[in-house]
Amino acid sequence: MKNIPYKIYLDEAEMPKAWYNLRADMKNKPAPLLHPATLQPLTAEELSTVFCKELAAQELDDTTAYIAIPQEIHDYYKTFRPSPLVRAYNLEKHLQTPAKIYYKFEGNNTSGSHKLNSAIAQAYYAKKQGLKGVTTETGAGQWGTALSMACAYFGLDCKVFMVKVSYEQKPFRREVMRTYGAEVTPSPSMQTAVGRKILQEHPGTTGSLGCAISEAVEVAALDPSYRYVLGSVLNQVLLHQSVIGLETKAALDKYGVKADIVIGCAGGGSNLGGLIAPFMGEKLRGEADYRIIAVEPASCPSFTRGKYAYDFCDTGMICPLAKMYTLGSGFIPSPNHAGGLRFHGMSTTLSQLYHDGLMEAVAVDQLSVFQAAEEFARVEGILPAPESSHAIRAAMDEAIRCKETGEEKTIVFGLTGTGYFDMYAYEAFHDGKMTDSIPTDQELAQGLSGLPKVD
Ligand SMILES: *Cc1c(COP(=O)(O)O)cnc(C)c1O
Repeated sequence: MKNIPYKIYLDEAEMPKAWYNLRADMKNKPAPLLHPATLQPLTAEELSTVFCKELAAQELDDTTAYIAIPQEIHDYYKTFRPSPLVRAYNLEKHLQTPAKIYYKFEGNNTSGSHKLNSAIAQAYYAKKQGLKGVTTETGAGQWGTALSMACAYFGLDCKVFMVKVSYEQKPFRREVMRTYGAEVTPSPSMQTAVGRKILQEHPGTTGSLGCAISEAVEVAALDPSYRYVLGSVLNQVLLHQSVIGLETKAALDKYGVKADIVIGCAGGGSNLGGLIAPFMGEKLRGEADYRIIAVEPASCPSFTRGKYAYDFCDTGMICPLAKMYTLGSGFIPSPNHAGGLRFHGMSTTLSQLYHDGLMEAVAVDQLSVFQAAEEFARVEGILPAPESSHAIRAAMDEAIRCKETGEEKTIVFGLTGTGYFDMYAYEAFHDGKMTDSIPTDQELAQGLSGLPKVD
């Protein structure tokens, strides 16, 4: 076997020219999105009133395996891609494991996360359609930042509803977005009917992702020159994020390395869905086998303790219904520091794969996640985002298991971003003030009791 460098970079010419649509190889397709009023599967036409036309088509396309990456998007990708696949030699040594650990690092751009991969695609299709701008929500702020950058590049207006607690606690993210020209509003706000309603029912609420989604959708629905865009959960987002997995697979293939275990953190499922895409594709086609592991916070355990059912994607119940592992759209997770993992539901594609036993899921608690983050930072140098650190935790646990069994497994995990804007979380950890609140069965039952009756 060739000597593996610390960082494997692809050449620009080796970058993927097409996204890979995992759904094309799934026997059991993800369940369709349903219209919230009629409960009928949404047509492309209906979806196009909310999403850009081309993105609506991608959302519904269950059959085209490869979708060409438009040249303009490819050109922008070249400004921050290919991202490195790092052989974690230092972490291996630190853990004294026979396992071989690789991570795909997506934090090497100003937005600090993988979200730019889809933001630039969504902004491109909005521009191509001749729209004036887009609306969206952001929780921790990574998606809003990525979208602001993408909109600035294509000259689009960008209206971001930012979960109020983040708006107040993460002023730096907010200002990065404004630097790129975005208009940032704390949610819930008085700007929308749904925001006013939520404020009336829950005065003093610090907001939630589900609520911010409702506001962003409402604003886009009322102005024909705007569309709503979303940074996770949707099939189209997983499609764009497949660039992560395709590069990872190409880099491994270049050195003749076969992965055994592929691990990623899962909020709405976009980085995980993108990372695993080509590996899962081989698994679905019976060409190779992999263990694929989703890692979620114990405080928001959609896969491990949720229910596979149709549910609303937002609190205001104006968005389509998706069949997914969910904790209920009314479930508001405790203020865990991994803001990007606090969504109550999960990608319909990943939900179907998990339901079919094609992937595993683990839930990890916050303290052990930050312990892993700190260990990782000290040996590998990169300061990881709290979300990404969930994957680090699980990868380290697998590597430690290899040490016990003597197995030389090859572990690949997704390092989705950097944590420079999460230093309050690190501070709480260092000061011994970090807690975790894991929902009781009773609390979960309450969230699930509000599921719409569809099945
Ligand atoms: C948003 C985010 C996540 C989680 O979102 P997915 O759609 O599940 O990938 C993970 N890591 C980082 C750094 C993020 O910004």
